[in-house]
Amino acid sequence: MLITTKIKLILEQKHHEKLLETMKRYNAACNYISGFAFEQSQYNRIRLQKLVYFVVRDQFQLSSQMTILAVRKVAAAYIADKAKKNEYKKSKGKNVRGQADLVWHDGVFYLLPGVELPENEPYIPNDALGVDLDIKNIAADSMGESLSGDAVQAVRHHCISKHLVEKAKRHRSRLALEDLTGIRERITVRRAQRRNQHAWAFAQLRSYIKYKALLAGVPVVLADPRNTSRECPQCEHTAKENRKTRDWFRCQACEYAAPADNVAALNIRSRAIVSVPNVGVAI
Ligand SMILES: [Zn+2]
Repeated sequence: MLITTKIKLILEQKHHEKLLETMKRYNAACNYISGFAFEQSQYNRIRLQKLVYFVVRDQFQLSSQMTILAVRKVAAAYIADKAKKNEYKKSKGKNVRGQADLVWHDGVFYLLPGVELPENEPYIPNDALGVDLDIKNIAADSMGESLSGDAVQAVRHHCISKHLVEKAKRHRSRLALEDLTGIRERITVRRAQRRNQHAWAFAQLRSYIKYKALLAGVPVVLADPRNTSRECPQCEHTAKENRKTRDWFRCQACEYAAPADNVAALNIRSRAIVSVPNVGVAI
């Protein structure tokens, strides 16, 4: 799988200015070549290069290598789509193996190298590890573990996702998360507001879990999230009254009691065992 990393370039002012100025000339050259190619309907890289090479080098003061790169970039974009003239403002686009995009954002240069990491063939799971993601505990699993911490969020999310993926692998289980599309139904307005603030944080944690699972060969499934915090994992009695407080679950039918997040994780697990398909899950 291709993972894009981000490197901040810390440059001296004079180098920063020079790089920015070069980037502007490079983009201007790309726009010139793009306009020329479009008007002449000339999209063949070699022929295009012959036609514009000296003009571009002279007019935009670009090195030979940058001129060739600019032509290649414009020609590649037209291979994908000849319908309209392509414009070049700042560096963008899909990362390619072995290449790095240079982007300038809010006065800072970043290098975005694409790194190819090998995925592992997913195993056939014997069980499922249900995971409930929540603001307070961050993650609670169906084996009774709650994961939280006070570290910097990104570090914490890396640690939690790594731990969950390794745990699932150790127990030869698939990882089961709630289907995000249903999560909104489960929560009250007050929690929804908080959840909204934290939505990006959940997206980050889920994406970490997803890519680490892919790399490790751990299958991931999304389970139906309805009533995961109201259903009794022991007798299946489902009632709002089972969850009288935010933190604690107590079944009104069989008296089963446990922390609410772990109950939700248990229900996610049992749903993941029943609903088996585990390929190509979009998180
Ligand atoms: Zn019960």
